[in-house]
Amino acid sequence: MKLDLEQKVFIVTGGAKGIGEAITLELASEGAIPVIVGRSENAAKQLADRIEAAGGKTMVIVAELGEGDGCKSIVDQTIAAFGRLDGVINNAGANDGVSLISGGSTAFRDSLMKNLTHYYDLVHYAVPYLKETKGAIINISSKIALTGQGGTSGYAACKGAQLALTREWAVELAPFGIRVNAILPAEVMTPLYAKWLNTFEDPAAKIKAIESKIPLGQRMTTPEEIAAMTVFLLSGRSGHTTGQWLSPDGGYVHLDRAIT
Ligand code: NAP
Repeated sequence: MKLDLEQKVFIVTGGAKGIGEAITLELASEGAIPVIVGRSENAAKQLADRIEAAGGKTMVIVAELGEGDGCKSIVDQTIAAFGRLDGVINNAGANDGVSLISGGSTAFRDSLMKNLTHYYDLVHYAVPYLKETKGAIINISSKIALTGQGGTSGYAACKGAQLALTREWAVELAPFGIRVNAILPAEVMTPLYAKWLNTFEDPAAKIKAIESKIPLGQRMTTPEEIAAMTVFLLSGRSGHTTGQWLSPDGGYVHLDRAIT
């Protein structure tokens, strides 16, 4: 299948590690130009070097998302460098464990800034350019928006809001031919996931217990599988898909638990 993404420009937040890194690499392998945005400068530069060494084009923008009005500058820098914008992948975020019982209102608000407000801000500033290209937006949410996890009210609120915004923006942007979809990862081994896993006394036993409940193959989803879904949804080959919540998770969230 030809995705026709050559020379198209996509902003990937958190694009240097984990799921974002896989999306960045998948875009580059399609001949697109990923703009890697995030706070991990070294990781981003190493990734950019890899892409450029393979003949691809990319750019790194170092930013702490959720602080100040940095999203306008991210869009401005992208347009200054490449003159166009074809899509935004809102991906940066972290499960920060702000609990209902032991958290607090300052921590809850901080979580909203780290996990949600930049999703809005970036798209707000990107829309004028996405109108020109009939671009696409992907919001990386989480299964937690549908299942809850316990002990993480801020993150859960943000992930749920990202799903609502996916539908809301799909409606508002449909007249401009801009598509908006969400992906809900469940269990994907990334630096963030590894950090969470290591909070358990026996991480190996915990991961075995989780994998045993994943219907398709009793294994985690790979970052590359999330990336492939993302890049397909960014391409014109999914040209009539908008407002959707996709769960590439081996059936973990939606299939009958009796089958595992
Ligand atoms: P990851 O391994 O931590 O990678 C995320 C990248 O984004 C990191 O480079 C991180 O920087 C950066 N980042 C995070 N918040 C940022 C901020 N406010 N400003 C700038 N950079 C920021 O995470 P991941 O597991 O790939 O997760 C990516 C997305 O998938 C997140 O939205 C997450 O909620 C979602 N998700 C993941 C899973 C999973 O199983 N992994 C499941 C459900 C949902 P640092 O490394 O410097 O912190």
